[in-house]
Amino acid sequence: MIDLYILGASGSIGRQTIDIIRNYPDKFRVVAMSLGHDLALAQSLVDLVKPSLICLREPGTSIKTEAKTVYGAEGLLAIAKYKASSNYSILINALVGSSGLKPTIEAIKNGKNIALANKETLVMAGDLIFDLVRKYQVNLTPIDSEHNAIWQCLKGEKKAEVKRLIITASGGSFRDKTRDELENVTVADALNHPNWHMGAKITIDSATMMNKGFEVIEAHYLFDMPYTQIDTILHKESLVHSLVEYNDLSIKAVLGCADMRIPILYALSYPNHLPITDLPSLVLEGKTLSFAKLDQVRFPLLKAAYYCGQKGGLYPTVLNASNEAAVRLFLTGKIKFLDIEKIIFSYIYKDEYKDIEYNIDNIINLDQQIQQEILKKYGDK
Ligand code: MG
Repeated sequence: MIDLYILGASGSIGRQTIDIIRNYPDKFRVVAMSLGHDLALAQSLVDLVKPSLICLREPGTSIKTEAKTVYGAEGLLAIAKYKASSNYSILINALVGSSGLKPTIEAIKNGKNIALANKETLVMAGDLIFDLVRKYQVNLTPIDSEHNAIWQCLKGEKKAEVKRLIITASGGSFRDKTRDELENVTVADALNHPNWHMGAKITIDSATMMNKGFEVIEAHYLFDMPYTQIDTILHKESLVHSLVEYNDLSIKAVLGCADMRIPILYALSYPNHLPITDLPSLVLEGKTLSFAKLDQVRFPLLKAAYYCGQKGGLYPTVLNASNEAAVRLFLTGKIKFLDIEKIIFSYIYKDEYKDIEYNIDNIINLDQQIQQEILKKYGDK
């Protein structure tokens, strides 16, 4: 039996996790979870799962449960520290944005294995997280579909024999629009992703291609690969989830339906492939696979991610912080779509972060400082 601790249980990844693991009641049990603003949804999830510890966002709110209830950011840390039994434990981090960093660190320090959907954690502090993973000898497994695919391609292979990783991109909501056509797109347009149904923040990140940039940085840390060996490619069908090319020029790929429950289950059951019986197989007959160059002029935030990744240090933290604040401003109608990248560029192409020491306090402080500065400037809080 594996004990699961789910952070962000009300979100898209959290709900899909609960949905898929219910088929394996003798393998997984959810012992703790954090829930969002929607208390009716929280109630239904808690009734379904019956955890022994829950975290609600707002102090003073409650739902009907026998579980102990904790609140807010401190509550997330309480879940990261909580130990329900001596079973093998996995903390699923499906939080949105920089709020995922501190609970991940706390969970690793408490000996929990991590199944990571919150890519911002690695973008902000990848080196630091993997130092902790080695120190506390836990496993960190990727839920993100592209990294989950690469991870499967690398199973049993030697890293030295890898020529390059190739991360696929669906292109997001605006893949067929020119830069001029992006000038007046709306929030509703941006939230309408052609292939994947996801949370609001990641859907906007997909539309700006920041998400793919983050995934390049995420791959660098997860697979310990230099940026010169990480490529991206446009693949509109979202059937090939990513590829690995080896030195002998053979290429391995993972294909599958665009359904996050598949990589979620693999991240929780590695190295095993548990049977999924209630979803249809991918029908290959009649399908066409297309691949095209992902244009860094059309998608300058992809270029920005390579730039920040290669600069290293606090630069990925700055990229993440400026993006997180800008996306929030776009979602609340305070800026236009193309302002997101303008705000990011006004932060990342500066020299002033290069001498800041890389440590957790500086990462968290710089993240907060930049986010608050941007939100204040545009009248959000
Ligand atoms: Mg992805």
